[in-house]
Amino acid sequence: MYQDDYKHKGMRRSLIRILTQKGITDQRVLRAIQEVPRHFFFEKAFLEQAYQDKAFPIGEGQTISQPYTVAFQSQLLEVQPGEKILEIGTGSGYQCCVLLELGARVYTVEYVQKLHHRSKAMLTQMGYQAVFVHGDGSRGLPSHAPYDKIIVTAGAPMVPNDLLRQLAIGGKLVIPVGDDKQQKMLRLTKQNENTIVKEEYDFFSFVKLRGAQGWDAASAR
Ligand code: SAH
Repeated sequence: MYQDDYKHKGMRRSLIRILTQKGITDQRVLRAIQEVPRHFFFEKAFLEQAYQDKAFPIGEGQTISQPYTVAFQSQLLEVQPGEKILEIGTGSGYQCCVLLELGARVYTVEYVQKLHHRSKAMLTQMGYQAVFVHGDGSRGLPSHAPYDKIIVTAGAPMVPNDLLRQLAIGGKLVIPVGDDKQQKMLRLTKQNENTIVKEEYDFFSFVKLRGAQGWDAASAR
């Protein structure tokens, strides 16, 4: 049903050039993006869009993240093969594929049931293996904690405490935090139980993180 041939690989090589020009330097991340057939997540008619550096609607009011954003977050995570990673916001499942190509073991949580089912079916069909969970990821996934890395792919009003708690010592959390228009990318490193080091990066624009530690809590205040 799906095909990935020299034409698609060529389109991905052009995308990699664009990402390099925009400042992505991690060769392992670029190689992972070269491996994942992003056009599988699009209708056939939208092949060109699949390899533009743009976000795209995936239904249910959600989007597949822009390749640059996926590359930037993946680079900040510094994924090592075999690491256990928690992703909040499965969405299309594309970012999950990139993490899997980097050799991670991935637990991915999605709030919208339809998207959870769809991405689980899609990645399984593509031959990828991850643990797919339907639920509110703003509270993390305590049943499988601690995680070496946690990546949040929706915009949060604050850093959820539960996520910091579920990080292993030496672990990193990459999360966009801000208002509903733009969010600053943060990387928090848990040096020990009492010390979190925070690094701040550029602004991005994500869909809202919902749930108890996301915007549902923030707007109830
Ligand atoms: N990583 C995705 C990007 C998806 S967009 C990709 O590669 O395509 C963000 C996703 O986060 C949406 O699917 C949205 O439904 C989901 N989301 C929002 N709040 C959430 C929450 N509290 N828990 C889990 N997923 C959430």
